[in-house]
Amino acid sequence: MNNIDEQLELLVTANRILARESVVDAYGHVSIRHPEHPDRYILSQSRAPDLVEVPDLMEYALQGDPIDQQGRPMYTERPIHGGIYEARDDVLAVVHNHAPSVIPFTVTNTPLRPILHLAALTGPELPVWDIRDNFGDTNLLVTTMDQGRDLASCLGDRRVSLMRGHGCVIAGKSIREVVMASVYLQVNAGMLLEALRLGDVKYLSPGEIEAMTESQMSLTGQERAWEYWANRAGRGKKA
Ligand code: MN
Repeated sequence: MNNIDEQLELLVTANRILARESVVDAYGHVSIRHPEHPDRYILSQSRAPDLVEVPDLMEYALQGDPIDQQGRPMYTERPIHGGIYEARDDVLAVVHNHAPSVIPFTVTNTPLRPILHLAALTGPELPVWDIRDNFGDTNLLVTTMDQGRDLASCLGDRRVSLMRGHGCVIAGKSIREVVMASVYLQVNAGMLLEALRLGDVKYLSPGEIEAMTESQMSLTGQERAWEYWANRAGRGKKA
């Protein structure tokens, strides 16, 4: 299997994992930067992630135009992906989702920060982007490149940004990294909601976050989680 075919299979597996772990439902999506054309990204046609197969995967220019649409319907929120790839040369994969446990932290002043060691890679500070700040009343969907670029500027050089009343984006250097951050972002949010009901919360310190993130980025750790999730998602032990 050549590199591109391998990456496409990985992207299908990522779609299935995010669905199996309830990070996405009918909505939400995951993309990769094209391994041979850095000015393009690869994203499924408009379809629920659990149903995505290799032929659904489409190439897009960073501004959102399809390279060869073949009549397929497209996700309207692809400017989320284009905006981030355009702003960040280091980003090779992006997830957008509406994980329910994350939403309460996008509409209140209670910050979402890691309390669980495995959520360290979501970062010490998670900004909340509010589409209303610069675009007024909208349907909250990120449908223009201006909106995508605005979201990317809120994300800055971080891995995660929340989106008010909508969801979140996760950007990283590999597909395994963004899937892992997406899964533990929502697990941590659910735990934090519970912990806040019990009383004062002790968050991970910046030093702990840095040390644990380094461990999580190790290839061994990433592969162990990926194999587990891929198997649960019915994709065997696909690399
Ligand atoms: Mn959305």
